[in-house]
Amino acid sequence: MKEILSGNEAIARGAFEAGVKVASAYPGTPSTEILENIIQYKDIDASWAPNEKVALEVGIGASFGGGRALVTMKHVGVNVAADPLFTLSYTGVNGGLVLVSADDPEMHSSQNEQDNRNYAKFAKVPMLESADSQECKDFTKLAFAISEQFDTPVMLRTTTRTSHGKSIVTLEEPVAGLPVPKLTRNAAKFVMLPSNARVRHPFIEERTLKLQQYANTLTINRMELRDRSIGVITSGIPYQYVREVLPEASVLKLGMVYPLPDKLIREFAGKVEKLYIVEELDPFIEEQVKAMGVEVIGKEIIPICGELTPGILRKAFKLPEPARSRVDILPGRPPNMCPGCPHRGIFYTLNQLKAYVMGDIGCYTLGFLPPLSAMDTCVCMGAGIGNAIGITKVLSTEEQKKVVAVIGDSTFLHSGITGLLDMVYNNVPATVIILDNRITAMTGRQENPASGFTLVGDETFKVDLPQLVRSLGVKNVRIVDPLNIDETKQVLQEEMERPEPSVVITRRPCVLIKREGVYENGAGVKVDIELCAGCKACLKLGCPAIIWQADGKKGKAFIDPQLCTGCNVCEQVCKLNAIEAKK
Ligand code: SF4
Ligand code: SF4
Repeated sequence: MKEILSGNEAIARGAFEAGVKVASAYPGTPSTEILENIIQYKDIDASWAPNEKVALEVGIGASFGGGRALVTMKHVGVNVAADPLFTLSYTGVNGGLVLVSADDPEMHSSQNEQDNRNYAKFAKVPMLESADSQECKDFTKLAFAISEQFDTPVMLRTTTRTSHGKSIVTLEEPVAGLPVPKLTRNAAKFVMLPSNARVRHPFIEERTLKLQQYANTLTINRMELRDRSIGVITSGIPYQYVREVLPEASVLKLGMVYPLPDKLIREFAGKVEKLYIVEELDPFIEEQVKAMGVEVIGKEIIPICGELTPGILRKAFKLPEPARSRVDILPGRPPNMCPGCPHRGIFYTLNQLKAYVMGDIGCYTLGFLPPLSAMDTCVCMGAGIGNAIGITKVLSTEEQKKVVAVIGDSTFLHSGITGLLDMVYNNVPATVIILDNRITAMTGRQENPASGFTLVGDETFKVDLPQLVRSLGVKNVRIVDPLNIDETKQVLQEEMERPEPSVVITRRPCVLIKREGVYENGAGVKVDIELCAGCKACLKLGCPAIIWQADGKKGKAFIDPQLCTGCNVCEQVCKLNAIEAKK
């Protein structure tokens, strides 16, 4: 049977066909839909973990017990999971373990565009890279086979285009005859204290050499010989662009990008006149091929930053541009918080207070954009609190009062707790604002330990954030409704003045959580045109439902009833009472 699947759907299907027992992940674009699709396969125990490190540790446990385990994350998530990953490379596996790294060249929704092929080399684990949905499924299954054959975790790399692009996939039955998981004691392999780890290191080096031999024989590394004047080594989605832009060129298409098939590369190089390497981001293949003494052209013509496109390749190979597509002429649309977003009120207030806001990763990072313009730093998941501690240590007492850290509920549970522990432990007088919108909103409303529901929708224990924060030693904990501007402002002022650690929890569910029923179409507010003086105060909220209509010199505000959720923040901001709730 054939189906049209996205790469993420195909990986979920591949896990099912591979007989995976346990799947764990923290949501992160572009990987999120793998777990969301895997839940249709009831034999797989799938769950959201509070962060990527825990997700990998769950997978490791399942593997040690003899079950196959899939762990998925976006590229920056691998940074969080790197600690167990590097030691997992040493312990190896029992049941196969596959770690999907969904990379995001061009940073469509990420804070950097790291190339996680480097992780495979650094951690000394094999990496496969798929170029379409069929390969996403097939490579997932192959990765489990390699994992068990070579006693190693295997990384499967996708990029945004392979994760979200759709193509035809042939479905198969799940594999049969996998061993039944059971407790297996093997301390020499699974207890990585130095004396055992020293024994495992030579095994890892030997394993890499064996994998390199294997890569030379692997059919997913294939030569496509056509015109011999140009040869291109490529992998992943750039393979599709090479086929489109240079259809006559000979291609060495790599399905395994680490370790590289050295003999195959030399053989291919000997068959073509001029050899190019087309790869996104780092010169990962290029450097290794050059180190083999093979002459290639790579980053001399292929950009090192951002996603490749057929257009970029055409330019690199000095080929004529085709006629402009309609896509090129669409106007840009900056991202924005949703109408009625509970974060709008808090960032509006922080802007009014001229706070120095040490931000974090979540949809609230959009608080950086004008007109809210209320975020001053943003580094990585959970970093905002540590950053606030650090800057407080170097500022004067007066300037310290301006500093706040903002962090979402999910991000706080992901990696904010330890930062807050540090703040209390070292008695740093900073204020942390936990933006509790009851969900992991940025990646599409996934559940988390504070939402009260599991990945499959079962009700579960709901973390009590104020209680958790108090148990970490925070004496000053305040809870506010961020849609109440005056109250929020007053509480923030008091806590920012306080020469002690404090936490403000802004509690209001994301407007898009259906079960909370906060969005009611048509239940909005309207502008009384007679009263509106065109002062533009309401525009400072940046709500997409508020439209400006030029009228002579000034203009007036209008509210789109289709978009307005009736959060009433603009009503509080309008000093002329021109905005009122609909009757
Ligand atoms: S804040 Fe009130 S008076 Fe000012 S533009 Fe908006 S609706 Fe009009
Ligand atoms: S009430 Fe005002 S701020 Fe809230 S969604 Fe409607 S227009 Fe936007």
